[in-house]
Formats: sequence, structure tokens, C-alpha cells
Amino acid sequence: MSNNVYDCVIIGGGAAGLYCASRLAKTFASSKKFLIIESGPRVGRKLALTGSGRCNLTNTSIDTSKYNTDDPKKLSSCLNRYGCTETSDFYENVLGVVLEQKGTLVYPSTYKSSTVVDALRFYISDNSVETELKEQVISVSKEKSLFEIKTKSGKSYLTRNTVIATGGITYPSTGSTGDVVNLLDKLTDESYFIPFKPALTSLSSDISGIKGLAGIRCRGDVKILDGTGDVRNQAEGEILFTKEGGISGICVMDVSDTVVRLIDNGEKNVKAVLNLTGKSAGEIFRMIYIRRQIYANRTCADALSGMLLRNITDFAMKTMGLKSDKMTLRELSENQIAALSNLICAFPIPITGYGDKDKAQVSSGGFKLIRLDDDMQVKDIPGLYVIGEAVNCNGICGGYNLQWAWTSAALAAEGISQNV
Ligand SMILES: Cc1cc2nc3c(=O)[nH]c(=O)nc-3n(C[C@H](O)[C@H](O)[C@H](O)COP(=O)(O)OP(=O)(O)OC[C@H]3O[C@@H](n4cnc5c(N)ncnc54)[C@H](O)[C@@H]3O)c2cc1C
Repeated sequence: MSNNVYDCVIIGGGAAGLYCASRLAKTFASSKKFLIIESGPRVGRKLALTGSGRCNLTNTSIDTSKYNTDDPKKLSSCLNRYGCTETSDFYENVLGVVLEQKGTLVYPSTYKSSTVVDALRFYISDNSVETELKEQVISVSKEKSLFEIKTKSGKSYLTRNTVIATGGITYPSTGSTGDVVNLLDKLTDESYFIPFKPALTSLSSDISGIKGLAGIRCRGDVKILDGTGDVRNQAEGEILFTKEGGISGICVMDVSDTVVRLIDNGEKNVKAVLNLTGKSAGEIFRMIYIRRQIYANRTCADALSGMLLRNITDFAMKTMGLKSDKMTLRELSENQIAALSNLICAFPIPITGYGDKDKAQVSSGGFKLIRLDDDMQVKDIPGLYVIGEAVNCNGICGGYNLQWAWTSAALAAEGISQNV
């Protein structure tokens, strides 16, 4: 066993772990002993994939309503203490990353996630934070005021403070395999955790004809209905039909968390009701009605092609038992126009499943936020901190998840600064 005692060991070199180390490095420069232990061959593997490789690192309109957690009040105070402004300031003025805004979304001006990963790893290296790669931590125990951390290869480390930054369960190829639960089994029990589930993921359906829409994108909205027909969640934005026979896109991913919980709780007949136009049924009715006077002799598919994607017209009319390429618009009765308009603006898609952890962008569940104090320290285990996606706090698309990683990491660093 090494006889060196660390001031803090951070388990996990992802977004949260690297940011926590950078914040500690900013406070102490090289005067304390800090170590990151990372199971992978390099740090920041998932961070490198974010925002389709562009890294949407925060959002200027951060608030609690964008998140799902067991302790919204604590989340609100955390985000108020350290939010988008503080994060942007640290990136620009300490880590040297120039930021750019697209609407409310914030990116590095290079639009390359490697810029963010490099800035973090260069900064911790400049400030002598040690990094052990390819070391998978398998246990954390505590004796008196010291933690002992053991790795699979047989190494052992002693530390006064331990930060668990091991992420959630999604994209396990990046190293995030939900280890927080196993690592803390000597110190906690199941009452500290909410089971991890995939969130921000696609939804699947076996409705006839849906595979024919593969690749189609439209702007609209999605409502999630439970088996009794109650609306349980909704969002607006782009809907994408997937090649597997289902739906995805930002607004679908934003409501997927609700679907996962409903299906896993045994709810039958979960539906997504899609508005595929972004307009009201009344507006669509009027538009089709006017077209019927101008393009009466064209097939429905041709006559509506200027206002609706042909595949959407085909799909909707097929669902009504009509053939869009055989019927002229003149032949479509007023009642049929009304039914078509209603269908396109509230298309019910039965949902049979969801994209698993290999496809989901984040996890819901993890270490309960309510069991942590304001500095992310486990309330009844002094010196133990849990941050990032390992905590039960997940946001919608748009930089909210990385902001949680930065926020929780910065608060933990602040707490640790008072203990070392
Ligand atoms: C494709 C994709 C795109 C995304 N895009 C965005 C985006 O644009 N904006 C946004 O806000 N969010 C985005 N996210 C979500 C965001 O990436 C995560 O919320 C964030 O990375 C979580 O950070 P973390 O440090 O908590 O966990 P992770 O980044 O998962 O890091 C955890 C680290 O811990 C290591 N580890 C795990 N177990 C052990 C162990 N036992 N021992 C040692 N090391 C261990 C892992 O190898 C990993 O490096 C995206 C996610 C994905 C998958």
C-alpha cells in the first residue's frame, strides 16, 4: 500500500471529475495532493462525444424545471450558486476556452468538444493533479477519517476526501457503467439510490408503415399519454423517424424519461401523440381546403406536396384506409379533410419500447440528491462526495446535463477546499 495520503482522490475522469479537479487546482495550485483515477485509456471519452462532437456545454436559460431529480429545492439552490455565468467565466478566464452562443446554447467557439477536453486536461496537468489511467476502482471503504480506494489491478490509495464521478450507465463503451452503486456498497445501502434507467433516448413502435418514414424529420410536438389517456409529458421541436421503426429527435428524447418509467412500471398502451406540422388542425384544414380549389385534379400526394412531406401524407391517408396516390384532392370530402387534418396534428403512435443504455444520452436515477448536503457531500459520510451523472439529476437536451456536471463538481470542490 502506498504510504502517501492524498488530500482528495476523484474516481472517474469524465466531465464532472475533470472539472472538480480543475476547480481544486485553481484554489490550491500544486500545493495539495490530488489524484484522478480513470478506468479508461484516456480522460473525457464521453465528453468528447457531446453535442455531436461540438460540445453544447451549457445553456443561458438554466432552471430546475429542465431537470428530473428527487430534490428539486436543493437542485435550485445548487444552480443558483453555480450556474451558466460562473461556468462560462471559468472556461473563458481560467481554462482559456473562447465560447460562442447559438440562441441559448453555449459551445466552444471552435465547435469541437476536443477543445473542452484538452482545456481541462492541460489545466490539471499544469497544476500537478496526478492522473492514473486504465485503473478501475473496485471498492471504497473508510476507517476513522481516511478512505481506502482499491483498484482491480491490486493498487490501493489512502485519501482524506473521495469524489465519486463515475457517471451513469449510458454509452458504457465510454467507461460509464453505473459503478457508483457497487463502489459504495460497504458505506451505503439501497436506500441511497434510485435505479439507473436510460433517458434522452429514442422510442419504438410497431405501428404499420412507420418504417417507411425512416429518415423523415419534421417540426412539431409530442405528447406522452399513459394507458388512461392522461398527458404525462410534452415537448416541442424536431421529430425524427428512425430506421428501426420509431421516433427520436430532441423533443422525443426530452420526454423519453417519462416513457421509460411508465413502461418499466408495467403501464400498458403508452402512446406518443405527434403533431407533425407545428400548426393547428384548423390551420391545416383551411390550407387543404384552399388547395382543393386550386389543385383539384391532382392526386392528394401531389396536391399536398407543397405543404406536407409526401411520406407523411401517404402514412396518414393509409392509416385512414385511403390511397394518396390514387385519389384526387377533389375526391376528398370535407369530413375526410377534417379527419386528415386532425390525424396529422395528433397522430397517435403506440409505444412498445425505448432505446437501451447503448443508445441513450444520459441516465436517470443514481445517488439520491437528497442524501447529499449543499456541497455534494454525503450527509452521513464526511469526506465522501458524489457528483455528475452518478447523482439522480438528469436534464433535457441543450447543455443541461453538462451544466449539472460542472455545477456539482464546482460545489464539491468548494466543500473539499474547507476540509484540506
Ligand atoms: C452522445 C452523447 C451526446 C451528449 N451531448 C451532450 C451535450 O451536448 N450537452 C450536454 O449537456 N450533455 C450531453 N451529453 C450528456 C453528458 O455527456 C453527460 O451528462 C456527462 O458526460 C456526465 O459527466 P460525468 O463526468 O458525470 O460522467 P462521464 O462523462 O460518464 O464520466 C465518468 C467517467 O468515470 C469513469 N469510471 C466509471 N467507473 C469507474 C471506475 N470504477 N473506476 C475508474 N473510473 C471509472 C468512466 O470511464 C468515465 O470516464 C451527451 C451524452 C452522450 C452519450
